Amino acid sequence: MTQIYNKVALIGLGLIAGSMSLAMRRAGLAGEIVGHARSAETRATALEIGLCDSVFETAAAAVAGADLVVLCAPVGAMGDIAAEIAPYLEQGTTVSDVGSVKKAIIDAVLPHMPDHVHFIPAHPLAGTEHSGPRSGFAELFENRWCLFTPLPDTDPEKLENLTRFWTAMGANVEKMDAEHHDLVLAVTSHTPHLIAYTMVGVAEDLQRVTNKEVIDFSAAGFRDFTRIAASDPTMWRDVFLNNKQATLEILGRFTEELFDLQRAIRRGDGDHLFEHFTRTRAIRRGIIDAGQDTDAPNFGRAPKKDA
Ligand code: NAP
Repeated sequence: MTQIYNKVALIGLGLIAGSMSLAMRRAGLAGEIVGHARSAETRATALEIGLCDSVFETAAAAVAGADLVVLCAPVGAMGDIAAEIAPYLEQGTTVSDVGSVKKAIIDAVLPHMPDHVHFIPAHPLAGTEHSGPRSGFAELFENRWCLFTPLPDTDPEKLENLTRFWTAMGANVEKMDAEHHDLVLAVTSHTPHLIAYTMVGVAEDLQRVTNKEVIDFSAAGFRDFTRIAASDPTMWRDVFLNNKQATLEILGRFTEELFDLQRAIRRGDGDHLFEHFTRTRAIRRGIIDAGQDTDAPNFGRAPKKDA
């Protein structure tokens, strides 16, 4: 048990804040955990399940006396929250966030930050399709990356403390430039989500395949698209509105590749398809070797008992 912060304020009390609270408590990282969420219902749930020791009706009240403030609300809400809390932040406080895009958050938050606080943007690459305070679990960050996009003049001691904090919650920390982060995430997360949203929409629109058939026979790949496409609509709307440039760039490349494969199918060019699928298989191997997914068949899912 190594306490790193006396008082941690979580602004936004959903999946990520809930998981952070459980991971912090498990490792004894915070003297006290306080929080704020928009609705009275979420605040009441957070108190009931022990996500926070105390909750506040405003973000401004929650940050008073905190030595770490983590913005865990949707990306589009970060700027307004930063403006609200700014006058109430203590001398030397570290302000961080968990938002899925970084450049737009820095642009929205940094102008509000007073000189006496340390703003260190961060993004844990961990999540599920569930949301809300009850969806958190302590193991969410284990062996997952947490990417920091520190500003050039970041205090090394504050950076070191935040690194120790995330490491103690199970994550591996890596630093990178905010624009590069947004490009990497456009490839690994944002565009794949858009493709899943598109494919699930297509299946719903198709008249010749019934909804029942889609649901019953979904195990052949479609099921995994539906899991991704069930992710929180607010979060993902904000991701695309705030990582426009990189997602459009990757989407452009994706469309070119798609046309290339479409042409190969039309021409019956089996060699081309085989070569492409061999290359992509190697990427899957690399992810497994890096410990970022299981090698077990069907993603390690237990077979259905009645199947
Ligand atoms: P979530 O489960 O939907 O929770 C969002 C929380 O933010 C809720 O408590 C909500 O309160 C609160 N909130 C919304 N608008 C607010 C506002 N204007 N002021 C204060 N609180 C507000 O979301 P999440 O999955 O934890 O995601 C939170 C952040 O983490 C997002 O920025 C997201 O990009 C990032 N992230 C998500 C994932 C993921 O896979 N889920 C992974 C990595 C990073 P109410 O319940 O009262 O509305």
